[in-house]
Amino acid sequence: MSGKPLNVGVIGGGALGLSAAYRLAQAGARVTVLEREDVVGGLAASFPVGGAYFEKFYHHLFRSDRVIASLIKELGLGDKLVWKKARTANLVGGRICQMDPVRLLTFSALPVADRLRFFLGMAYLKLQSDYRRFEGVTAVDWVERWMGKETYEVVWRPLLEAKFGEHYRKIAMPWLWSRVYCRSLSLGYLRGGFHQLYVALYQRVKSLGGEVLTGQTVDRIEAADGGRVRVVVGDRWTEFDRVVCTLPTRLFMKVTAGLPEDYRSQYDWGDFHGAHCVVLSLDHRFGDFYWLSVNDPGFPFLVVVDHGNFMPTEDYGGQRLMYLGNYLPMSDRRFTMSDDELLDWYLPYLTKINPAFDRSWVKDSWVFKAPFAQPIVTVEFHRHIPPHETPIPGLFLANMFQVYPQDRGQNYSIEMAYRVADLALKAPLAPGVQVGR
Ligand SMILES: Cc1cc2nc3c(=O)[nH]c(=O)nc-3n(C[C@H](O)[C@H](O)[C@H](O)COP(=O)(O)OP(=O)(O)OC[C@H]3O[C@@H](n4cnc5c(N)ncnc54)[C@H](O)[C@@H]3O)c2cc1C
Repeated sequence: MSGKPLNVGVIGGGALGLSAAYRLAQAGARVTVLEREDVVGGLAASFPVGGAYFEKFYHHLFRSDRVIASLIKELGLGDKLVWKKARTANLVGGRICQMDPVRLLTFSALPVADRLRFFLGMAYLKLQSDYRRFEGVTAVDWVERWMGKETYEVVWRPLLEAKFGEHYRKIAMPWLWSRVYCRSLSLGYLRGGFHQLYVALYQRVKSLGGEVLTGQTVDRIEAADGGRVRVVVGDRWTEFDRVVCTLPTRLFMKVTAGLPEDYRSQYDWGDFHGAHCVVLSLDHRFGDFYWLSVNDPGFPFLVVVDHGNFMPTEDYGGQRLMYLGNYLPMSDRRFTMSDDELLDWYLPYLTKINPAFDRSWVKDSWVFKAPFAQPIVTVEFHRHIPPHETPIPGLFLANMFQVYPQDRGQNYSIEMAYRVADLALKAPLAPGVQVGR
């Protein structure tokens, strides 16, 4: 064949952008990834600690995350993917209650009749494979009706409120269904960190002739002559035959010129929370759980994730790493407080969980923040998810705000990456352009 290879720009070097770039490059396209940060991985990126890399925000997999598991194998990392039953618990009324299916029936924070309704409700959701039957119903209404008001107040309301703040009453039941249906007791982790997955994708894209450029903030996307798409970074611009944009929808709308008003009013929609995580390096074991959802009001964080009870501490030079995590509106003062102020506020609450905890256990700490980390999945959300094809020919949108009804996750970003790469490859070509080299 003669002619120029398909020239594709991918905006964003997270799970979605890198996986799309990999599939496009495998199909013979010439790919350029433009990533704003200095490292790839996006929300799943890591930082160096104890001679290893550790995710800035807690990450694990569920058994249903088959697409990422198969990509991990494809990239030669399969022997590092480990599965474990990690201990998960809830803090209720100052007590740590374990929450596996059997223990639901002995969950003393609820009266016996409510425990039974809770158990049956969970069993029903686990067996119900079609989320569409919950469409249009809020999680609050469904849970109150079928699991009871007490279960809602003790178990679900704290979770919904912690994750979605003032929007909690409007959250769609399909989202809550997915939290039960798609999740497994056994959790997966890429021993040594998910960093290895993103490094491997980066290397594959490069070895297939692609480029991954970091420190590149895309300021503008617009249609160019000949059906091409122009991408502007600072005072330089590049034209591509196709562009796959993986920025959150709100950000995409902000940087893209020439989108019709009716498209904007339909899809430039919805709210999100940012992620905020304090990571502590401890020289003592804090508790015996991996995951502790904090259901007690007044705590300044919603979850404690003790990675030292999941993966061996030797992987991190002997350090016990523990997250104190939150989803918050970007206007929350935690996003602007100094690290010392945060620690002064947070650490006394650890004593309420483990009275033996002492500040001297903390040997190091880091604070990570990210906007656009959690879409607010209200009942109307699904009507405002844009299609991957945009009104600008050759420009495709794929991001975690288009994941529905599942809670966003690396698996769904990778699955979407393959879909959008296929669409970009199949779209009509300009004369003289061919997909393969
Ligand atoms: C606290 C937290 C916990 C999580 N836990 C899990 C978990 O346990 N398991 C799991 O699988 N998933 C988890 N996730 C979700 C997972 O991290 C995301 O679903 C996934 O990483 C999203 O990848 P993405 O590529 O779609 O988006 P992103 O990672 O957001 O990638 C978008 C990329 O675009 C870049 N970018 C933004 N603006 C520009 C610009 N103007 N120009 C160029 N580049 C730009 C960003 O820097 C980023 O790298 C968690 C997320 C958070 C925040």
